[in-house]
Amino acid sequence: MIEIVNWKKKGLPEQADGCKNEMKLEFRAVSDNEAFARTAVAAFVTQLNPTLEEISDIKTAVSEAVTNAIIHGYEGEDSAENRVLVHCIIRNDVLEVEISDSGVGIENIEKAMEPLFTTKPELDRSGMGFSFMEAFMDDLEVFSEIGQGTTVHMVKKLGITPWIGDVE
Ligand code: ATP
Ligand code: MG
Repeated sequence: MIEIVNWKKKGLPEQADGCKNEMKLEFRAVSDNEAFARTAVAAFVTQLNPTLEEISDIKTAVSEAVTNAIIHGYEGEDSAENRVLVHCIIRNDVLEVEISDSGVGIENIEKAMEPLFTTKPELDRSGMGFSFMEAFMDDLEVFSEIGQGTTVHMVKKLGITPWIGDVE
């Protein structure tokens, strides 16, 4: 049965300040959806006229976070209940992306974010996912609770690269 939600009656979820546009995606935690998620976010962000480099940075960061949700959050278990959520907000020239899972959670966030730290070396993981997210985005925050799941919040300011012609 398809549930039809009437947002006018129900009331919208709380809107972020200055929010110009917003989208949410929810999909099953399978690796086929990694490419889908990064392409969907890249398509959403085209309205901000990003450079190719900005698009590539955003795609890499989204890919790393979604991969983490699937292989660490849900430990690669394919089940209909295992869902990944991607929430994007555009506020002026700033993109906010939040990637959440309801998986196992992270015990020590600080440690997990250290370069080269991985709990899955047997899967040839290099422990560089969070470092890439940090390097390619302007801000990264991780919220997690054991047994509840993990949310990765990333911010990217677009349009700060000047055109060559604008540089004196
Ligand atoms: P790589 O990303 O280089 O393939 P990795 O995934 O192990 O390796 P990071 O992405 O930096 O490295 O993550 C570091 C560690 O943080 C992981 O090994 C895992 O223990 C933990 N982690 C990251 N994301 C999640 C998540 N969504 N749920 C549970 N644990 C996570
Ligand atoms: Mg990773």
